[in-house]
Amino acid sequence: KPEDLSAMAQVLELACEFFVHRLRHREQGRVAREYLARRGLSPELVQEHRLGYAPPGWNHLIRHLQSKGIDPELVVRSGLAVRSDKGTVYDRFRHRLIFPITAPNGSLVAFGGRSLDDTEPKYLNSPETALYHKGRTLYQYATAMEACRATRQVILVEGYMDLLAFHARGFRRVVATLGTALTPHQVRLLQRLADEVILVYDGDASGQKAMLRALPLFLRQGLAASCVTLPLGMDPDDYLKAHGLDAFTALLGTRRELLHFAVDAIASTWNGTSQDKVRVVKECADLVSDVQDPVLREDMARLLGMRLFLSEHAVLQHFSRVPKTAS
Ligand code: ATP
Ligand code: MN
Ligand code: MN
Ligand code: MN
Repeated sequence: KPEDLSAMAQVLELACEFFVHRLRHREQGRVAREYLARRGLSPELVQEHRLGYAPPGWNHLIRHLQSKGIDPELVVRSGLAVRSDKGTVYDRFRHRLIFPITAPNGSLVAFGGRSLDDTEPKYLNSPETALYHKGRTLYQYATAMEACRATRQVILVEGYMDLLAFHARGFRRVVATLGTALTPHQVRLLQRLADEVILVYDGDASGQKAMLRALPLFLRQGLAASCVTLPLGMDPDDYLKAHGLDAFTALLGTRRELLHFAVDAIASTWNGTSQDKVRVVKECADLVSDVQDPVLREDMARLLGMRLFLSEHAVLQHFSRVPKTAS
């Protein structure tokens, strides 16, 4: 129902104002403000992004919205409250730093909340709602749309803090997946704002895995993708804090095509036996099944051949022979 969607949008807007006010509150917001300062986020940046604070307690937001005549059931549908098994309703976000999340058109659709202590999970997001589809959202897409117009190049990172670290340094050609696996829809969104996407995921095993998983989506969409690998244990936020934006820009100069990165990563799992060569070639053949361009296929075959001490010809033959395994 369209009237429901606009009522939900109003609830989100009121909630956003509530969180912003709680963060500004002299006593209530102090812990959150100190946390933001420790992480290098200035009051100006906090204001620009409308970051907020959800106070501890079970129904501060629900009561606030109720005082404005809003039915708690609508707060549940908007993703901001949870109905318990016993039927009672309570605030989803409690004692968390709040990040508003907007749809590609810039309208407020969801929130993310970071715990300020060791409470798990570290990040909590709105659930899918009639307004929020996480696979169709990229954090700060609307901002990047403006910023990428001239260069048609965008940086893709995993986290809120990674993106904000760039914004804090005046760099806005960046969007974040918010830790979820990239979807075909998100790749189409990226294609609207850039001709090249540069993945800068966390320098850990899961970041590397996520980059490999993203490759087939870019290949299928025909969108150029490259990547930079960060030092082990660092994410973009850590890197920018340690080395600054200029060092990061220099690092961008060393980026590699995602396809080459993937072939290298897969080739490096070869255990040295002939038997295992077959496995490695098969794994790469799976990727290649998404590559239409014969030049790219040959390129990959040469690269892989060099790594496995096989002729380009032998690899290419394998590429054309092996049917794609279901994925
Ligand atoms: P921080 O620097 O605040 O510790 P981070 O962004 O480096 O956070 P990661 O663990 O690298 O945190 O996760 C990357 C992103 O994945 C987060 O910014 C968040 O969007 C998402 N994420 C992480 N953990 C969770 C979780 N438990 N539930 C939902 N989303 C999560
Ligand atoms: Mn990570
Ligand atoms: Mn981090
Ligand atoms: Mn991280």
